[in-house]
Amino acid sequence: MTAPHGNPLAGGATGPHALRPLLDTVLDALRTGAQDRSGRPLPAGGPATVTAHARTALGDVLPDHGTGDHEALRTLVHTLAAGAADPAHPHCAAHLHCPPLAVAVAADLAAAALNPSLDSWDQAPAASAIEALLTRALAAEFHDTPHPDALITTGGTESNQLALLLARERHGPHLTVLHGANAHHSIPRAAWLLGLPPATELPTPTGVLDPATLADALATTPRPTLVTATAGTTDAGLIDPLPAIADLCDQHGADLHIDAAYGGLLALSPHHRHKLTGLGRAHSLTIDLHKLGWQPVAAGLLTVPDTTLLAPLAHQADYLNATDDTEAGLPDLLGRSLRTTRRPDALKIATTLRSLGRDGLTHLIDHTCHLAHHLARLLDAHPRFELHAPPTITTVLFRPTHATDDDVATLRRTLLHQGRAVLGRTHADGRLWLKATLLNPHTTAGDLDTLIALLEGSTHR
Ligand SMILES: *Cc1c(COP(=O)(O)O)cnc(C)c1O
Repeated sequence: MTAPHGNPLAGGATGPHALRPLLDTVLDALRTGAQDRSGRPLPAGGPATVTAHARTALGDVLPDHGTGDHEALRTLVHTLAAGAADPAHPHCAAHLHCPPLAVAVAADLAAAALNPSLDSWDQAPAASAIEALLTRALAAEFHDTPHPDALITTGGTESNQLALLLARERHGPHLTVLHGANAHHSIPRAAWLLGLPPATELPTPTGVLDPATLADALATTPRPTLVTATAGTTDAGLIDPLPAIADLCDQHGADLHIDAAYGGLLALSPHHRHKLTGLGRAHSLTIDLHKLGWQPVAAGLLTVPDTTLLAPLAHQADYLNATDDTEAGLPDLLGRSLRTTRRPDALKIATTLRSLGRDGLTHLIDHTCHLAHHLARLLDAHPRFELHAPPTITTVLFRPTHATDDDVATLRRTLLHQGRAVLGRTHADGRLWLKATLLNPHTTAGDLDTLIALLEGSTHR
């Protein structure tokens, strides 16, 4: 039997040597792909054009004979980049879809090369130690308690699922989940997934949960109850009145989960953290670092004020955490996730925190919030546009003056089709609004002027 030649591995002492020329090819293809978009945030032509390009580039997905590493990388990476909606472009601002920092992506490459898996210590000795140190340090940013803890998740959806699961394990299967109509769709979906009674949705006509509405609901809802509040709504970036909600939960003996996937990182900023007063009173928090943390997907957290709250996740599989191995001192990692094989997402997060420091990260957060305020002021002062409200975080809702909802929807799709801007949409006050979610800290005032000029040129009223 002959050993395979020409398929070098990424790890080991020779891995970096094999990777370096391949990375040159990848980086060149990223550059030429972006150049193919000629300055646009996404390719022109819509789904039919992009799909046709992908089909032509791929050809036979599994050819009988391979084309080799460099050709495959060049073709597919180029196709990906040329057809990307690139969040690093200042006019790509629809979703909570951040442009990742180069340092985080570089760290993620090392994670992929060594491929540690966080389901047992013998697959991830240093990675598991880094994860344990990072999660404890991050949890302490949100909880002023002796033993806070956090789990790394794939994002807000998984964190919300875990939060509801932990609440169910505390209180049993008759748990009622109360959430505002402004909550992320993953909250009622998690209740469905976990076989809980259907979650109760409370109306939020102002965009946030009204304490009076919640008080009425808590008075009539059978216990046990979990209230979920939102710190940074996906549609408008609004923050529920957390202290009042936490008080009501205390009075009624309800547990509180706060979904701070979007807004949670404001806690790092001395300028903005006052908006999150009450955050630490929750039984669990959802935080996403692939939003205002500039990480490549996936980088989520579920934080809890006390590590014992995670105990229901303890699980045993003899091949991963045999009792005698654990007794002999090998860390037991299975209770840190519902997943088994698991990427070391902690590496890119820890690297970013170390590189930027508290002041560097805070500066990015503050500056991005400042950009959103600047855009809002420009739109508010503009006769052709109507601003919904000054932003709380970095989301700006606006619409052309006198436009119908159909006009707004068509404008958004036209810009997408032309490849000129990626804006989101959301309903508020019974009308459809355009949504700019600013997450790019390198966007300039000039970029925002260009965006407005672009919108003006595409509005025919
Ligand atoms: C983005 C978001 C989520 C979902 O997070 P994913 O990382 O996409 O799974 C949940 N809740 C809120 C408030 C969000 O903004």
